[in-house]
Amino acid sequence: MSEVEDLKNKLFRSKKSGWEIVDDTRRGEINKFCDEYMYFLNNSKTEREIIKSAKKMADENGFRNIEECNELREGDKVYYINREKSMYLAVIGKEPMENGINIIGAHADSPRLDLKPNPLYEDTGLAYLKTHYYGGIKKYQWTTIPLAIHGVFVKANGEKIEVTIGEDEQDPIFTITDLLPHLAQDQMQRKLNEGVKGEELNLLVGSIPYASGVDAVKLNIMNILNQKYGIVEKDFVSSEIELVPAFKARSMGFDSSMVAAYGQDDKICVFTSVRALLEIHNPSRTAVCIIADKEEIGSMGNTGMESHVFDTFISELLNKQGVNKPNLLDKVFCKSKMLSADVDAAYDPIYASAFEKNNSGYLGRGLGLNKYTGARGKSGASDANAEFVAEIRGILERENVQYEVSELGKIDVGGGGTIAYILADKGIDVIDAGVPVLSMHAPYEVTSKFDVYEAYRAYKVFWNN
Ligand code: MN
Ligand code: MN
Repeated sequence: MSEVEDLKNKLFRSKKSGWEIVDDTRRGEINKFCDEYMYFLNNSKTEREIIKSAKKMADENGFRNIEECNELREGDKVYYINREKSMYLAVIGKEPMENGINIIGAHADSPRLDLKPNPLYEDTGLAYLKTHYYGGIKKYQWTTIPLAIHGVFVKANGEKIEVTIGEDEQDPIFTITDLLPHLAQDQMQRKLNEGVKGEELNLLVGSIPYASGVDAVKLNIMNILNQKYGIVEKDFVSSEIELVPAFKARSMGFDSSMVAAYGQDDKICVFTSVRALLEIHNPSRTAVCIIADKEEIGSMGNTGMESHVFDTFISELLNKQGVNKPNLLDKVFCKSKMLSADVDAAYDPIYASAFEKNNSGYLGRGLGLNKYTGARGKSGASDANAEFVAEIRGILERENVQYEVSELGKIDVGGGGTIAYILADKGIDVIDAGVPVLSMHAPYEVTSKFDVYEAYRAYKVFWNN
Protein backbone atom coordinates (compact mmCIF):
# COMPACT_ATOMS: atom_id res chain seq x y z
CA MET A 1 0.00 0.00 0.00
CA SER A 2 1.28 3.44 -0.88
CA GLU A 3 2.11 5.97 1.78
CA VAL A 4 -0.80 8.12 0.62
CA GLU A 5 -3.26 5.24 0.96
CA ASP A 6 -1.81 4.48 4.37
CA LEU A 7 -2.28 8.01 5.52
CA LYS A 8 -5.84 8.13 4.14
CA ASN A 9 -6.73 4.95 6.02
CA LYS A 10 -5.30 6.41 9.17
CA LEU A 11 -6.90 9.85 8.96
CA PHE A 12 -10.14 9.54 6.98
CA ARG A 13 -13.38 7.99 8.17
CA SER A 14 -14.32 4.74 6.46
CA LYS A 15 -17.25 4.69 4.04
CA LYS A 16 -17.12 0.96 3.46
CA SER A 17 -20.19 -1.14 2.93
CA GLY A 18 -20.68 -3.48 5.86
CA TRP A 19 -20.97 -6.37 3.41
CA GLU A 20 -17.26 -5.93 2.56
CA ILE A 21 -16.22 -6.79 6.09
CA VAL A 22 -18.58 -9.63 7.03
CA ASP A 23 -17.34 -13.21 6.86
CA ASP A 24 -19.47 -16.26 6.03
CA THR A 25 -20.32 -16.94 9.68
CA ARG A 26 -21.58 -13.40 10.20
CA ARG A 27 -23.47 -13.54 6.90
CA GLY A 28 -25.25 -16.65 8.19
CA GLU A 29 -26.10 -14.94 11.48
CA ILE A 30 -27.46 -11.91 9.61
CA ASN A 31 -29.72 -14.02 7.40
CA LYS A 32 -31.01 -16.09 10.30
CA PHE A 33 -31.72 -13.00 12.37
CA CYS A 34 -33.55 -11.31 9.49
CA ASP A 35 -35.70 -14.41 8.89
CA GLU A 36 -36.79 -14.01 12.50
CA TYR A 37 -37.34 -10.30 11.93
CA MET A 38 -39.55 -10.91 8.88
CA TYR A 39 -41.56 -13.50 10.81
CA PHE A 40 -42.09 -10.90 13.54
CA LEU A 41 -43.21 -8.30 10.98
CA ASN A 42 -45.71 -10.67 9.40
CA ASN A 43 -47.32 -11.32 12.77
CA SER A 44 -47.27 -7.77 14.10
CA LYS A 45 -48.62 -5.08 11.81
CA THR A 46 -50.35 -2.81 14.33
CA GLU A 47 -49.24 -1.39 17.67
CA ARG A 48 -51.57 -3.76 19.56
CA GLU A 49 -50.11 -6.74 17.68
CA ILE A 50 -46.56 -5.53 18.32
CA ILE A 51 -47.24 -5.37 22.04
CA LYS A 52 -48.74 -8.86 21.92
CA SER A 53 -45.65 -10.23 20.12
CA ALA A 54 -43.27 -8.40 22.46
CA LYS A 55 -45.16 -9.70 25.50
CA LYS A 56 -44.89 -13.24 24.16
CA MET A 57 -41.14 -12.84 23.63
CA ALA A 58 -40.76 -11.41 27.13
CA ASP A 59 -42.93 -14.07 28.79
CA GLU A 60 -40.93 -16.84 27.15
CA ASN A 61 -37.69 -15.30 28.40
CA GLY A 62 -38.25 -14.90 32.10
CA PHE A 63 -39.96 -11.50 32.23
CA ARG A 64 -42.90 -10.95 34.59
CA ASN A 65 -45.66 -8.37 34.71
CA ILE A 66 -44.49 -5.77 37.24
CA GLU A 67 -48.00 -5.63 38.69
CA GLU A 68 -47.53 -9.20 39.88
CA CYS A 69 -44.20 -8.51 41.62
CA ASN A 70 -44.12 -7.28 45.21
CA GLU A 71 -40.36 -6.85 45.33
CA LEU A 72 -37.63 -6.42 42.77
CA ARG A 73 -33.96 -7.19 43.02
CA GLU A 74 -30.85 -7.35 40.86
CA GLY A 75 -31.32 -9.49 37.76
CA ASP A 76 -35.14 -9.38 37.82
CA LYS A 77 -36.90 -8.92 34.49
CA VAL A 78 -40.23 -7.11 34.36
CA TYR A 79 -42.58 -5.26 32.03
CA TYR A 80 -45.62 -3.03 32.13
CA ILE A 81 -48.20 -2.85 29.35
CA ASN A 82 -50.10 0.41 28.92
CA ARG A 83 -53.58 -0.11 27.39
CA GLU A 84 -52.37 -2.80 24.97
CA LYS A 85 -50.52 -0.18 22.90
CA SER A 86 -47.29 0.73 24.62
CA MET A 87 -44.93 -1.23 26.82
CA TYR A 88 -41.90 -0.74 29.04
CA LEU A 89 -39.49 -3.54 29.92
CA ALA A 90 -36.65 -3.58 32.43
CA VAL A 91 -33.80 -5.78 33.61
CA ILE A 92 -32.71 -4.65 37.07
CA GLY A 93 -28.98 -3.92 37.18
CA LYS A 94 -26.30 -4.42 39.82
CA GLU A 95 -25.71 -0.71 40.38
CA PRO A 96 -28.30 1.36 42.24
CA MET A 97 -30.61 3.12 39.80
CA GLU A 98 -29.57 6.37 41.46
CA ASN A 99 -26.45 6.13 39.28
CA GLY A 100 -28.64 6.23 36.17
CA ILE A 101 -30.15 3.67 33.83
CA ASN A 102 -29.65 2.75 30.16
CA ILE A 103 -32.76 3.19 28.03
CA ILE A 104 -33.54 2.22 24.45
CA GLY A 105 -36.85 3.50 23.08
CA ALA A 106 -38.62 2.64 19.82
CA HIS A 107 -42.22 3.10 18.65
CA ALA A 108 -44.79 0.53 17.60
CA ASP A 109 -47.17 2.68 15.54
CA SER A 110 -46.66 3.10 11.80
CA PRO A 111 -48.35 5.24 9.14
CA ARG A 112 -51.61 3.67 7.99
CA LEU A 113 -55.28 4.38 7.29
CA ASP A 114 -57.72 4.35 10.22
CA LEU A 115 -61.48 4.04 9.82
CA LYS A 116 -63.59 7.10 10.61
CA PRO A 117 -66.13 6.71 13.46
CA ASN A 118 -69.01 6.41 10.94
CA PRO A 119 -67.26 4.76 8.03
CA LEU A 120 -69.78 2.57 6.19
CA TYR A 121 -71.77 3.94 3.25
CA GLU A 122 -73.10 2.89 -0.10
CA ASP A 123 -72.78 4.72 -3.38
CA THR A 124 -74.11 3.48 -6.70
CA GLY A 125 -74.29 -0.15 -5.68
CA LEU A 126 -70.88 -0.26 -4.03
CA ALA A 127 -70.17 -0.32 -0.28
CA TYR A 128 -67.26 1.68 1.12
CA LEU A 129 -65.52 2.41 4.41
CA LYS A 130 -64.32 5.98 4.90
CA THR A 131 -60.79 6.33 6.26
CA HIS A 132 -58.71 8.98 7.97
CA TYR A 133 -55.00 8.64 7.33
CA TYR A 134 -52.64 8.30 10.31
CA GLY A 135 -49.16 9.80 10.19
CA GLY A 136 -47.27 11.30 7.26
CA ILE A 137 -48.17 9.49 4.08
CA LYS A 138 -48.09 10.11 0.35
CA LYS A 139 -51.79 9.37 -0.16
CA TYR A 140 -51.54 8.18 -3.74
CA GLN A 141 -49.32 5.29 -2.58
CA TRP A 142 -52.26 3.75 -0.67
CA THR A 143 -54.53 3.19 -3.67
CA THR A 144 -54.62 0.02 -5.79
CA ILE A 145 -52.68 -2.11 -3.32
CA PRO A 146 -54.09 -5.02 -1.31
CA LEU A 147 -55.09 -3.82 2.15
CA ALA A 148 -55.90 -5.87 5.24
CA ILE A 149 -58.17 -4.84 8.11
CA HIS A 150 -56.77 -5.14 11.65
CA GLY A 151 -58.20 -3.92 14.90
CA VAL A 152 -60.76 -4.10 17.64
CA PHE A 153 -64.42 -3.33 18.17
CA VAL A 154 -65.39 -2.64 21.76
CA LYS A 155 -69.10 -2.92 22.43
CA ALA A 156 -70.92 -0.68 24.90
CA ASN A 157 -70.89 -3.55 27.44
CA GLY A 158 -67.07 -3.70 27.24
CA GLU A 159 -66.88 -6.83 25.14
CA LYS A 160 -63.87 -6.66 22.83
CA ILE A 161 -63.88 -8.23 19.39
CA GLU A 162 -60.60 -8.59 17.53
CA VAL A 163 -60.68 -8.51 13.76
CA THR A 164 -58.03 -9.46 11.21
CA ILE A 165 -59.08 -9.91 7.59
CA GLY A 166 -56.76 -10.08 4.60
CA GLU A 167 -53.65 -11.76 5.98
CA ASP A 168 -54.60 -15.39 5.48
CA GLU A 169 -54.34 -16.63 1.87
CA GLN A 170 -57.98 -17.72 2.11
CA ASP A 171 -59.15 -14.27 3.27
CA PRO A 172 -60.48 -11.61 0.94
CA ILE A 173 -58.46 -8.38 0.79
CA PHE A 174 -59.61 -4.80 0.26
CA THR A 175 -58.43 -1.98 -1.94
CA ILE A 176 -58.90 1.71 -2.72
CA THR A 177 -59.54 2.33 -6.40
CA ASP A 178 -57.89 4.98 -8.56
CA LEU A 179 -59.01 6.60 -11.78
CA LEU A 180 -57.87 4.99 -15.04
CA PRO A 181 -55.22 7.05 -16.88
CA HIS A 182 -57.51 7.37 -19.91
CA LEU A 183 -59.87 9.59 -17.92
CA ALA A 184 -57.37 11.12 -15.51
CA GLN A 185 -56.35 14.20 -17.51
CA ASP A 186 -57.65 16.52 -14.80
CA GLN A 187 -56.35 14.42 -11.92
CA MET A 188 -52.92 14.24 -13.55
CA GLN A 189 -52.75 18.04 -13.45
CA ARG A 190 -53.16 18.01 -9.67
CA LYS A 191 -50.07 18.47 -7.53
CA LEU A 192 -48.65 15.18 -6.24
CA ASN A 193 -49.77 15.88 -2.66
CA GLU A 194 -53.34 16.24 -3.93
CA GLY A 195 -53.11 13.53 -6.58
CA VAL A 196 -55.34 11.50 -4.33
CA LYS A 197 -57.09 13.50 -1.60
CA GLY A 198 -57.81 12.39 1.96
CA GLU A 199 -61.55 12.18 1.34
CA GLU A 200 -60.91 10.00 -1.72
CA LEU A 201 -59.27 7.28 0.36
CA ASN A 202 -62.45 5.20 0.59
CA LEU A 203 -62.08 1.47 0.91
CA LEU A 204 -64.18 -0.69 -1.43
CA VAL A 205 -65.71 -3.48 0.69
CA GLY A 206 -68.66 -5.03 -1.17
CA SER A 207 -71.06 -5.07 -4.11
CA ILE A 208 -73.84 -7.64 -3.48
CA PRO A 209 -77.22 -6.18 -2.45
CA TYR A 210 -79.12 -7.90 0.39
CA ALA A 211 -82.40 -7.32 -1.46
CA SER A 212 -83.44 -4.53 -3.75
CA GLY A 213 -83.85 -0.97 -2.58
CA VAL A 214 -81.88 1.80 -0.92
CA ASP A 215 -78.66 0.85 0.93
CA ALA A 216 -79.10 -2.82 0.08
CA VAL A 217 -75.34 -3.41 -0.38
CA LYS A 218 -74.56 -1.61 2.86
CA LEU A 219 -77.20 -3.78 4.55
CA ASN A 220 -75.60 -6.92 3.16
CA ILE A 221 -72.15 -5.89 4.48
CA MET A 222 -73.58 -4.99 7.89
CA ASN A 223 -75.39 -8.33 7.97
CA ILE A 224 -72.15 -10.21 7.19
CA LEU A 225 -70.34 -8.29 9.95
CA ASN A 226 -73.19 -8.93 12.36
CA GLN A 227 -73.21 -12.67 11.69
CA LYS A 228 -69.44 -12.96 11.90
CA TYR A 229 -68.63 -10.56 14.74
CA GLY A 230 -71.98 -9.77 16.38
CA ILE A 231 -71.58 -6.05 15.71
CA VAL A 232 -74.04 -3.38 14.56
CA GLU A 233 -73.22 -0.14 12.74
CA LYS A 234 -73.04 1.84 15.99
CA ASP A 235 -70.17 -0.35 17.20
CA PHE A 236 -67.85 1.36 14.69
CA VAL A 237 -67.81 4.45 16.94
CA SER A 238 -65.97 2.52 19.64
CA SER A 239 -63.64 0.64 17.35
CA GLU A 240 -60.02 1.08 16.32
CA ILE A 241 -59.77 -0.44 12.89
CA GLU A 242 -56.58 0.06 10.89
CA LEU A 243 -55.94 -0.64 7.21
CA VAL A 244 -52.46 -1.90 6.53
CA PRO A 245 -50.84 -3.33 3.40
CA ALA A 246 -51.74 -7.00 3.04
CA PHE A 247 -48.40 -7.99 1.57
CA LYS A 248 -45.80 -9.95 3.47
CA ALA A 249 -42.28 -9.00 4.47
CA ARG A 250 -39.88 -10.44 1.88
CA SER A 251 -36.17 -10.72 1.19
CA MET A 252 -35.30 -8.32 -1.58
CA GLY A 253 -32.77 -8.14 -4.42
CA PHE A 254 -31.00 -10.86 -6.45
CA ASP A 255 -28.59 -11.07 -3.53
CA SER A 256 -31.41 -11.08 -0.92
CA SER A 257 -29.48 -8.37 0.91
CA MET A 258 -32.50 -6.28 1.85
CA VAL A 259 -35.87 -6.56 3.56
CA ALA A 260 -38.99 -5.12 1.95
CA ALA A 261 -41.91 -4.80 4.35
CA TYR A 262 -44.65 -2.55 5.68
CA GLY A 263 -44.05 -0.63 8.89
CA GLN A 264 -40.32 -1.09 9.31
CA ASP A 265 -40.52 2.43 10.76
CA ASP A 266 -40.29 1.63 13.57
CA LYS A 267 -40.91 -2.07 14.05
CA ILE A 268 -37.32 -2.60 12.97
CA CYS A 269 -36.10 -0.89 16.16
CA VAL A 270 -38.79 -2.53 18.30
CA PHE A 271 -37.70 -5.97 17.17
CA THR A 272 -33.94 -5.39 17.32
CA SER A 273 -34.11 -3.76 20.77
CA VAL A 274 -36.50 -6.27 22.35
CA ARG A 275 -34.49 -9.10 20.84
CA ALA A 276 -31.29 -7.60 22.31
CA LEU A 277 -32.90 -7.13 25.73
CA LEU A 278 -33.76 -10.83 25.91
CA GLU A 279 -30.02 -11.48 25.99
CA ILE A 280 -29.25 -9.02 28.77
CA HIS A 281 -28.67 -10.78 32.08
CA ASN A 282 -27.40 -9.04 35.23
CA PRO A 283 -26.31 -5.78 33.56
CA SER A 284 -24.37 -3.22 35.61
CA ARG A 285 -26.90 -0.47 35.01
CA THR A 286 -30.61 -1.20 34.87
CA ALA A 287 -31.61 -1.81 31.24
CA VAL A 288 -34.94 -0.32 30.14
CA CYS A 289 -36.71 -0.79 26.82
CA ILE A 290 -39.56 1.44 25.65
CA ILE A 291 -42.12 0.55 23.00
CA ALA A 292 -44.04 3.79 22.51
CA ASP A 293 -47.27 4.50 20.65
CA LYS A 294 -48.46 7.61 18.72
CA GLU A 295 -44.96 8.69 17.64
CA GLU A 296 -46.17 9.22 14.09
CA ILE A 297 -48.76 11.79 15.19
CA GLY A 298 -46.71 13.68 17.76
CA SER A 299 -46.41 11.32 20.78
CA MET A 300 -49.45 12.81 22.50
CA GLY A 301 -52.12 10.93 24.44
CA ASN A 302 -51.83 8.50 27.33
CA THR A 303 -50.11 5.80 25.25
CA GLY A 304 -47.73 8.28 23.61
CA MET A 305 -44.28 9.11 24.95
CA GLU A 306 -45.48 12.50 26.26
CA SER A 307 -47.61 10.75 28.89
CA HIS A 308 -46.32 10.25 32.43
CA VAL A 309 -46.95 6.53 32.42
CA PHE A 310 -43.25 5.93 31.72
CA ASP A 311 -42.22 7.97 34.78
CA THR A 312 -44.65 5.94 36.84
CA PHE A 313 -43.05 2.73 35.59
CA ILE A 314 -39.56 3.90 36.59
CA SER A 315 -40.94 5.02 39.99
CA GLU A 316 -42.41 1.56 40.43
CA LEU A 317 -38.98 0.01 39.78
CA LEU A 318 -37.63 2.19 42.61
CA ASN A 319 -40.62 1.49 44.89
CA LYS A 320 -40.39 -2.24 44.47
CA GLN A 321 -36.66 -2.25 45.19
CA GLY A 322 -37.48 -0.34 48.38
CA VAL A 323 -35.13 2.52 47.55
CA ASN A 324 -37.45 5.34 46.47
CA LYS A 325 -37.22 8.73 48.14
CA PRO A 326 -38.25 12.29 47.27
CA ASN A 327 -36.73 13.58 44.02
CA LEU A 328 -35.04 10.28 43.28
CA LEU A 329 -36.82 9.86 39.93
CA ASP A 330 -35.44 13.18 38.67
CA LYS A 331 -31.97 12.22 39.83
CA VAL A 332 -32.20 8.86 38.08
CA PHE A 333 -33.16 10.59 34.83
CA CYS A 334 -30.37 13.17 35.07
CA LYS A 335 -27.79 10.39 35.16
CA SER A 336 -29.42 8.19 32.55
CA LYS A 337 -28.46 7.49 28.95
CA MET A 338 -30.69 6.69 26.04
CA LEU A 339 -30.63 5.52 22.46
CA SER A 340 -33.74 6.82 20.76
CA ALA A 341 -34.19 3.87 18.43
CA ASP A 342 -35.92 5.16 15.34
CA VAL A 343 -35.31 4.86 11.64
CA ASP A 344 -33.32 7.29 9.55
CA ALA A 345 -33.78 8.28 5.89
CA ALA A 346 -31.39 6.30 3.72
CA TYR A 347 -29.68 8.09 0.83
CA ASP A 348 -31.65 7.38 -2.33
CA PRO A 349 -29.59 7.94 -5.52
CA ILE A 350 -32.81 8.33 -7.55
CA TYR A 351 -33.72 11.35 -5.42
CA ALA A 352 -30.16 12.51 -4.77
CA SER A 353 -31.13 16.19 -4.70
CA ALA A 354 -32.94 15.72 -1.35
CA PHE A 355 -29.77 14.54 0.36
CA GLU A 356 -26.36 15.93 1.21
CA LYS A 357 -23.95 13.15 0.36
CA ASN A 358 -21.42 13.77 3.10
CA ASN A 359 -24.01 13.66 5.87
CA SER A 360 -26.53 11.04 4.80
CA GLY A 361 -27.29 7.62 6.17
CA TYR A 362 -26.60 4.86 3.67
CA LEU A 363 -28.03 1.39 3.26
CA GLY A 364 -25.55 -1.24 4.43
CA ARG A 365 -23.24 0.89 6.53
CA GLY A 366 -24.57 -0.11 9.92
CA LEU A 367 -26.38 1.73 12.71
CA GLY A 368 -27.44 5.27 11.80
CA LEU A 369 -26.82 7.87 14.48
CA ASN A 370 -28.48 11.29 14.27
CA LYS A 371 -26.88 13.80 16.63
CA TYR A 372 -29.95 15.96 16.04
CA THR A 373 -33.06 15.97 13.86
CA GLY A 374 -35.49 18.88 13.50
CA ALA A 375 -36.09 21.26 10.60
CA ARG A 376 -35.12 24.80 9.55
CA GLY A 377 -32.00 25.29 11.64
CA LYS A 378 -32.39 22.26 13.95
CA SER A 379 -35.71 23.61 15.19
CA GLY A 380 -37.47 21.13 17.46
CA ALA A 381 -34.39 18.96 17.82
CA SER A 382 -32.76 17.38 20.82
CA ASP A 383 -29.10 17.96 19.93
CA ALA A 384 -27.02 15.29 21.65
CA ASN A 385 -24.05 16.60 23.64
CA ALA A 386 -20.61 15.96 22.10
CA GLU A 387 -19.51 14.20 25.30
CA PHE A 388 -22.39 11.74 24.99
CA VAL A 389 -21.82 11.16 21.27
CA ALA A 390 -18.19 10.42 22.13
CA GLU A 391 -19.23 7.93 24.79
CA ILE A 392 -21.57 6.10 22.43
CA ARG A 393 -19.11 5.96 19.55
CA GLY A 394 -16.48 4.82 22.01
CA ILE A 395 -18.63 1.82 22.94
CA LEU A 396 -19.46 1.01 19.31
CA GLU A 397 -15.86 1.29 18.16
CA ARG A 398 -14.61 -0.85 21.04
CA GLU A 399 -17.16 -3.53 20.17
CA ASN A 400 -16.61 -3.27 16.40
CA VAL A 401 -20.18 -2.23 15.63
CA GLN A 402 -20.42 -0.37 12.30
CA TYR A 403 -22.15 2.99 12.52
CA GLU A 404 -22.44 6.25 10.67
CA VAL A 405 -23.53 9.69 11.85
CA SER A 406 -25.89 11.52 9.54
CA GLU A 407 -28.61 14.14 9.10
CA LEU A 408 -32.13 13.67 7.79
CA GLY A 409 -31.71 15.06 4.25
CA LYS A 410 -30.47 18.40 2.99
CA ILE A 411 -30.91 21.57 5.01
CA ASP A 412 -34.33 23.19 4.51
CA VAL A 413 -35.78 20.49 2.26
CA GLY A 414 -37.87 19.13 5.13
CA GLY A 415 -37.13 17.47 8.43
CA GLY A 416 -38.48 15.23 11.10
CA GLY A 417 -38.34 14.24 14.74
CA THR A 418 -38.46 11.30 17.10
CA ILE A 419 -39.23 10.70 20.78
CA ALA A 420 -35.66 11.81 21.65
CA TYR A 421 -36.58 15.31 22.87
CA ILE A 422 -39.24 14.00 25.28
CA LEU A 423 -36.71 11.91 27.20
CA ALA A 424 -34.04 14.61 26.89
CA ASP A 425 -36.49 17.00 28.59
CA LYS A 426 -36.29 14.78 31.69
CA GLY A 427 -32.52 15.29 31.82
CA ILE A 428 -31.49 12.11 30.06
CA ASP A 429 -28.60 12.09 27.57
CA VAL A 430 -30.22 10.97 24.31
CA ILE A 431 -29.07 10.28 20.77
CA ASP A 432 -31.10 8.94 17.86
CA ALA A 433 -29.77 5.55 16.84
CA GLY A 434 -31.66 3.50 14.28
CA VAL A 435 -31.65 1.97 10.85
CA PRO A 436 -31.61 3.79 7.48
CA VAL A 437 -34.75 3.13 5.41
CA LEU A 438 -35.59 3.65 1.74
CA SER A 439 -39.18 4.70 0.89
CA MET A 440 -39.88 5.56 4.53
CA HIS A 441 -43.61 5.78 5.36
CA ALA A 442 -44.56 4.07 2.09
CA PRO A 443 -46.65 0.89 2.18
CA TYR A 444 -43.47 -1.07 1.40
CA GLU A 445 -40.23 0.13 3.01
CA VAL A 446 -36.72 -1.14 2.29
CA THR A 447 -33.85 -1.79 4.69
CA SER A 448 -30.48 -3.55 4.58
CA LYS A 449 -30.16 -6.83 6.44
CA PHE A 450 -26.67 -5.80 7.49
CA ASP A 451 -28.06 -2.73 9.24
CA VAL A 452 -30.84 -4.71 10.95
CA TYR A 453 -28.26 -6.99 12.54
CA GLU A 454 -25.88 -4.17 13.37
CA ALA A 455 -28.68 -2.30 15.20
CA TYR A 456 -29.34 -5.41 17.28
CA ARG A 457 -25.61 -5.69 18.09
CA ALA A 458 -25.42 -1.99 18.97
CA TYR A 459 -28.39 -2.16 21.34
CA LYS A 460 -26.89 -5.18 23.06
CA VAL A 461 -23.52 -3.58 23.69
CA PHE A 462 -25.18 -0.34 24.87
CA TRP A 463 -27.05 -2.22 27.59
CA ASN A 464 -24.03 -4.31 28.49
CA ASN A 465 -21.79 -1.27 28.97
MN1 MN B 1 -40.17 6.43 13.38
MN1 MN C 1 -42.09 7.69 11.04
